[in-house]
Amino acid sequence: MKKRICLIHTGGTIGMVKGENGYLPMAGYLEGVLKTIPDLKSPEMPELDFYEMSPLLDSSDMAVDDWNRIGEEIAKRYEGYDGFVVLHGTDTMAYTAAALSFMLEGLKKPVILTGSQIPLCEIRSDGVDNLVTSLLIAGSGKVDEVSLYFGGRLLRGNRATKMSADGLLAFDSPNCPRLAEAGISVRYLPYAKSGERKNEEFSLCTLKNVPIGVLKIFPGINFPIFDTLMTEKLKGIVLETFGAGNIPGEGKSLLPIIKKAFKAGSVVAVCSQCPQGTVTLGAYATSSPLAKAGAVSGYDMTTEASVAKLYYLFSKGYSTEKIKILMEENLCGELTK
Ligand code: ASP
Repeated sequence: MKKRICLIHTGGTIGMVKGENGYLPMAGYLEGVLKTIPDLKSPEMPELDFYEMSPLLDSSDMAVDDWNRIGEEIAKRYEGYDGFVVLHGTDTMAYTAAALSFMLEGLKKPVILTGSQIPLCEIRSDGVDNLVTSLLIAGSGKVDEVSLYFGGRLLRGNRATKMSADGLLAFDSPNCPRLAEAGISVRYLPYAKSGERKNEEFSLCTLKNVPIGVLKIFPGINFPIFDTLMTEKLKGIVLETFGAGNIPGEGKSLLPIIKKAFKAGSVVAVCSQCPQGTVTLGAYATSSPLAKAGAVSGYDMTTEASVAKLYYLFSKGYSTEKIKILMEENLCGELTK
């Protein structure tokens, strides 16, 4: 029997048209374009239903409420479909993929995010392959987690990151093997199961818009300036540190700020500015003070996954202590310890 896939259009370049001030999404436009793509009529295709969200967004405009709306559309249709393909802008696709991987608890069906760098309305669009291959993968029944397909690569959603602003191989997951590669045929690679949550019943956890911050460390950073930022007003802070978790000046001026933030109920997670590799707190004298002050290691999590995970854990209503513990645990494939 043919698999049934729901195609959810949220916006992004793939369905954009050229306006006076540049590309922008247009309501009602994409469904007509899809009817002109011969591959979508192939007998090899799964059965397809199209749903367009309103308003369509450039993904730069996506925020927590939009993730919730996407999650709700999937949850509403969960029983009726074998999988979902979500058309999305590339700019924040990795954030949405990470967020959905936490929000769709107990997911046992494929949810594949894709889009394109060149709109379908333009010559040389990469949108046709990204869409068609995503639909075939979703219909294959071989992947049952939130993933991101782009430029021939199927990536774990909470490991993906946008690597190129203008290349067609725009995404990769430097800290996690690809789930599949599409050349002449689609080659599914052996991949670790994404976590323990497969035993759970499927349910949607919507996210609260708790205040989260990302602070990128740079040479010459004046930590005391951030003292006013790291108060109880900021619940979660992702510190993008050098290399394996290092900060300048042995972090002396940052430590009291982290301690204060922790006392106020905030969680400080340490990630690396390097796209590949892991944070090892304590490997250098420039990182051990962070752990002593109460910061937690994000190991090899992307900034995207760390931000989404903080939103998720605070939305669950957990205590600061529990959030600190869970930030360092692998919940659904987002980190390697
Ligand atoms: N600004 C666009 C978006 O993220 C870029 C894209 O889709 O490639 O919606």
